[in-house]
Amino acid sequence: MFAAPMIPAFYPPRRILMGPGPSDVHPQVLAAQAKPIIGHLDPLFVSMMDELKQLLQYAFQTRNEMTLAISAPGSAGMEACFVNLVEAGDKVIVCRNGVFGERMRQNVERCGGIAVTVDFKWGEPVQPAAVEALLKDHPDARFLAFVHAETSTGALSDAKALCALAKRYGCLTIVDAVTSLGGVELRVDEWGIDAIYSGSQKCLSCVPGLSPISFSAAAVAKITARTTPVQSWFLDQSLVMAYWSGGAKRAYHHTAPVNALYALHESLRLLAAEGLENAWARHQAMHQELRVGLEQLGIAFVVEEPYRLPQLNAIYIPQGIDDAKVRATLLNEFNLEIGAGLGELAGKAWRIGLMGFGARRENIALCLHALRQLLN
Ligand SMILES: *Cc1c(COP(=O)(O)O)cnc(C)c1O
Repeated sequence: MFAAPMIPAFYPPRRILMGPGPSDVHPQVLAAQAKPIIGHLDPLFVSMMDELKQLLQYAFQTRNEMTLAISAPGSAGMEACFVNLVEAGDKVIVCRNGVFGERMRQNVERCGGIAVTVDFKWGEPVQPAAVEALLKDHPDARFLAFVHAETSTGALSDAKALCALAKRYGCLTIVDAVTSLGGVELRVDEWGIDAIYSGSQKCLSCVPGLSPISFSAAAVAKITARTTPVQSWFLDQSLVMAYWSGGAKRAYHHTAPVNALYALHESLRLLAAEGLENAWARHQAMHQELRVGLEQLGIAFVVEEPYRLPQLNAIYIPQGIDDAKVRATLLNEFNLEIGAGLGELAGKAWRIGLMGFGARRENIALCLHALRQLLN
């Protein structure tokens, strides 16, 4: 026998989360998670899932039937899009302007697809003109993949223009909206997005571990026309289409994360109650408030103003400041988490998130107060 470890219950402190995710969760969302568990095929759970689909369709601004939440974080939503859509030999134009575009390329190659990459400087948006040149050079490309809101740099790309371009050149689009959903304008049907994935823990301010996705009719047709099975059994959406398409009898595929889905239902309900456009405007207003305060501290943004994400403020660490020490003090003395720089920006930038429930005045006041103390 191994001795039984005597471990006290875990009591996390109450932190203010102003990093790149997870973001602050609304108390109602946390409470929703603690509601009684019911079976995932219980008729009451099934009707909750119908509402959840309706709420996701609203958040994405889509009528896509294939709109659902993958039972795993944003990275699984990313993988779900690529493994279902990209077959061996399919050519995919992948835009890279940060960490997440590079992950898209890796996904394409693991599916046996041919990734054609187009690179932009970190902190810059994807430039449609460069993408168009590549679309012209590769008339056999089947997909255009890009990140709407690059969390590693804080840059927003013009998803509407990029999707219109893709259409003109006969490509389906795969869009990373992990950080954009709920924080900035995003209209799946109007912009003609074919496959999109997001995450529960950024601007939806839900607990981590779920990934909303949506596929257009054209994307579903591509999946249906596959000649080879999807290499991932768990992420093979043809196996769960019947479950989500409504009306159809729901059968067991995997055990749904029941309580996490309660939380997503509540966070999306709160978003719908606020109204999407109001949520976008609130993120912008809070970003402006934070920007003014940061500029008073002499802090500069990584991204040019027109492309700045309101929900992810990448700022240069002032000269002579100890990155790790400041972040540790923020955490330990102010219970405040901000994000470190990622990839090329590691050690050079901080990432201050204003996501969902976290995009509010008292968070900004605390953050500016703490930075003012620590930087002087
Ligand atoms: C956070 C993030 C992901 C990954 O999501 P996880 O939930 O961490 O797996 C993917 N893309 C972008 C743009 C992100 O910000």
